[in-house]
Amino acid sequence: MIRKLLRRVFSKDAPASHEPALIPVAKHHVRRESISPGARRTVTRLQEHGHLAYVVGGAVRDLLAGLSPKDFDVATDATPEQVRGLFRRSRIIGRRFRIVHVMDGGETIEVSTFRAGIAHEAETDEHGRVLRDNVFGNMEEDAARRDFTINALYYDPTAETITDFHHGVADLKQKTLRIIGDPRKRYREDPVRLLRAVRMAAKLGLAIDPAARAPIREMAELLENVPAARLFDEMLKLLISGHAVECLRQLREEGLHHGLLPLLDVIMEQPLGERFVWLSLANTDARVNAGKRTSPGFLFATLLWHEVLAAWEARKEQGEMPFPALHAAMDEVLDLQAGKLAITRRIAADIKDIWVLQPRLENRVGRRPLRVVEQPRFKAGYDFLLLRAESGEVEAELAEWWTRFIDANTEERLAMLTPEKKPARKRRRRRKGGGEGNEAEAAE
Ligand code: ATP
Ligand code: MG
Repeated sequence: MIRKLLRRVFSKDAPASHEPALIPVAKHHVRRESISPGARRTVTRLQEHGHLAYVVGGAVRDLLAGLSPKDFDVATDATPEQVRGLFRRSRIIGRRFRIVHVMDGGETIEVSTFRAGIAHEAETDEHGRVLRDNVFGNMEEDAARRDFTINALYYDPTAETITDFHHGVADLKQKTLRIIGDPRKRYREDPVRLLRAVRMAAKLGLAIDPAARAPIREMAELLENVPAARLFDEMLKLLISGHAVECLRQLREEGLHHGLLPLLDVIMEQPLGERFVWLSLANTDARVNAGKRTSPGFLFATLLWHEVLAAWEARKEQGEMPFPALHAAMDEVLDLQAGKLAITRRIAADIKDIWVLQPRLENRVGRRPLRVVEQPRFKAGYDFLLLRAESGEVEAELAEWWTRFIDANTEERLAMLTPEKKPARKRRRRRKGGGEGNEAEAAE
């Protein structure tokens, strides 16, 4: 109690205590039915045991904006141990801040305990970035430490009310993204908020409030201190948000790409592959918005493809055989980028699968297409080829051929094959044991 009081009295940044607005359903129209059954059950159970519990964050914001939420997060005054005790299928996770995952049917609901303001106790690095803050607080403090006003809304599915400490509902109506507290201070605490601001604005079609927008450019270099893995997660979220094109356009406008986000440098600074990269981002947006799956592997395969093509070409020019040259080029590009971008091994393997299929899809001689179509990653490789054709890198006819081939039955497929030519074989035999290698085999 006393500590809390002192914190409030001595910290000029601590929010002045004020009554939140309690907005009834008649004003916000978010009905409890739009909350997932699992999240509703989680909130109800916590409430029945005497705790405060609300659906918070992105889900409330998205429902208010007429979007369907990705997932549902719950905030409560119960400690992680108390939450854990109430749900048989649950586990405590996280080190930076411990939260509880409650499993309900196929759903996982993230339950976090109200956090205190970070005014004093938090441990920071020399730039003011918060490293650890594990102090529980009350609901008002929890609201104050969230990033944007529209993300600090608490929905009670039982009463169907929204508790709003920072005029988030009004901001969302006015299409404004506003930071809670002093923008510079909040960006310093966590520079990832610079990226979140741009992502949220692009996703919801909001204008960033001038006070929050002004410091973005000058504070951009703070991103250098953020661990690569965290940046990668945030960039991935951005790329698969369904609004990647708009997000990247805005990042560029805010000066948030050059030299700070290796991934964006890769995307934006390739004169050769620019058209291909933007096409693939637009394609990813369309897929996400149509409710289809996208894989990070596919996305990164597109982003780095033209680098691979350039490296491959350089090696072939130096006399390397096509197939080994492709593998060496892939490794070269991945070695360079995987570390910078924090691409995991598993994603790197997916990327390679897609790349390796490309020359195989270009070689339609003999019975090869029959084997390629059986490859486990064929569909991804084919989707990738469609993008290459659309960008003009390969003939449209090639992609059309594969589209027909996929739809054809066995008999029709056989009729589509190009017979293997005798002379090609002869030449191949002659070159054996040296020379320039054998392209036909190379593509196998
Ligand atoms: P989405 O899940 O649609 O990307 P979200 O707002 O739910 O958006 P999450 O990363 O899931 O984003 O975070 C959930 C909530 O946690 C946010 O709405 C916000 O209130 C709070 N939050 C997340 N990241 C930060 C941050 N860096 N600083 C302060 N609050 C944050
Ligand atoms: Mg979320």
